[in-house]
Amino acid sequence: MPAKIQRALEDTAIRREKAISDEQLKKQTVELVAANRELLQQNREKEKHAQELRQANELLTREREKVKSVNEELSQLNSQLENRVAARTKALGESENRFRKMMETIPQIAWTNTVEGEVDYYNQRWYDYTGLKPSNTQISDFTTVVHPDDLKESLKHFNFLHKNSDEGEFQLRVRRSDGLYRWHLIRLMHISNAEGMSQQWIGTATDIQELRILQQHKDDFISIASHELKTPITTLKASLQLLDRMKDNPSPLVLPKLINQANKSLEKVYMLIEDLLNSSKANEDQLQINPTKFSLLKIIRDCCDNLSTDDRFQIDVQGDTGLEVYADVSRTEQIVINFVNNAIKYAPDSREIEVLVEQSGGMAKVSVTDKGAGIPAQNLRFLFDRYYRINHGGSEYTGLGLGLYICAEIVKRHDGTIGAESEVGVGSTFWFTLPLSS
Ligand code: ADP
Repeated sequence: MPAKIQRALEDTAIRREKAISDEQLKKQTVELVAANRELLQQNREKEKHAQELRQANELLTREREKVKSVNEELSQLNSQLENRVAARTKALGESENRFRKMMETIPQIAWTNTVEGEVDYYNQRWYDYTGLKPSNTQISDFTTVVHPDDLKESLKHFNFLHKNSDEGEFQLRVRRSDGLYRWHLIRLMHISNAEGMSQQWIGTATDIQELRILQQHKDDFISIASHELKTPITTLKASLQLLDRMKDNPSPLVLPKLINQANKSLEKVYMLIEDLLNSSKANEDQLQINPTKFSLLKIIRDCCDNLSTDDRFQIDVQGDTGLEVYADVSRTEQIVINFVNNAIKYAPDSREIEVLVEQSGGMAKVSVTDKGAGIPAQNLRFLFDRYYRINHGGSEYTGLGLGLYICAEIVKRHDGTIGAESEVGVGSTFWFTLPLSS
């Protein structure tokens, strides 16, 4: 091909290509403009989003600030709360400690139990008294040491109080570690929380064995004293009734006998009342003595001569005539009369009663000896105790068990001593000492 044509062909091709690329360029420019527009739009949106983000960030920062301050407040409150809880826990611990200490200090057995009646704490006294070990402490232990005769009734009381009351008490016998049962007063009281709900019970057991014995003695004494007073009063009443009946036509034979009988009964009542008064005076340390200087043998002789014993008894008074004492005359007579009357009462087969006055160990000593049945050795040391009487196995001997006690108190007021020696089947000697006059 000629070069000219070749060139024309090439020019045509170039022009066509150029037209195509112009077309493309135009198209691309349109696309570029659209893309630009879109980009602009996106940029605007981005800017808007950035704006929103900034606003949101500001909001977030503000909120964070708020949260931070709330957090600070919360943490302050928390630490205040923690402090309060710690203080309260400490106070509770101290209160619990005080309560335990108190339970351990009181002289009684003490425990706490749940509202269901289950014991959850015993103080040391419980273990010391019962001999039980802390390891096996259950309510069942409580029942194993209660006297079998008291168990049913006690459980009834226990359950009744738990259901129906705030507090209460009852008595029962509890076995000691040596196997002996002693009476105890059980007191129960319930503890409630601030809302008034029952939380637990506190119980104490107080040993009232001695008190029960004293009460028994008092009851026995009242019954004996009433009986003792009733006997002579009945005789006195009978004598007065007979005297009343014969007042219009008195029999000279019976009259003196009745008067004598009435006098004797009255004297017995008087003596009993006198004993009762003296005994309570002695007990309150109010037994008066008015000491004077006198010849002991003379006073005792006169007193024994005036004792209206029946003829079966012979009272033989011997001793040191020159012995002078510094003592209360009527109280001295009271002791001798008591000893002699006891010899007559408790040694009725002993015909002779010997009274000896002598000097012994820097004191004057008076002894009254009978040849009666004597007193068993194991009873001797209790003879001068208040209300003590030997059981003679029958009601033939009456008395209040106060005579020798009063004698001992009188002797004590004189700084003297009193005692008794006796041999069963041989007889007894009761003696006392008084200070010599200086
Ligand atoms: P009471 O005679 O009122 O019972 P007492 O105090 O005088 O009281 O005597 C106490 C106890 O001592 C009496 O119950 C009696 O058993 C005993 N007793 C006192 N004197 C004698 C005695 N001479 N012989 C034997 N027992 C005696």
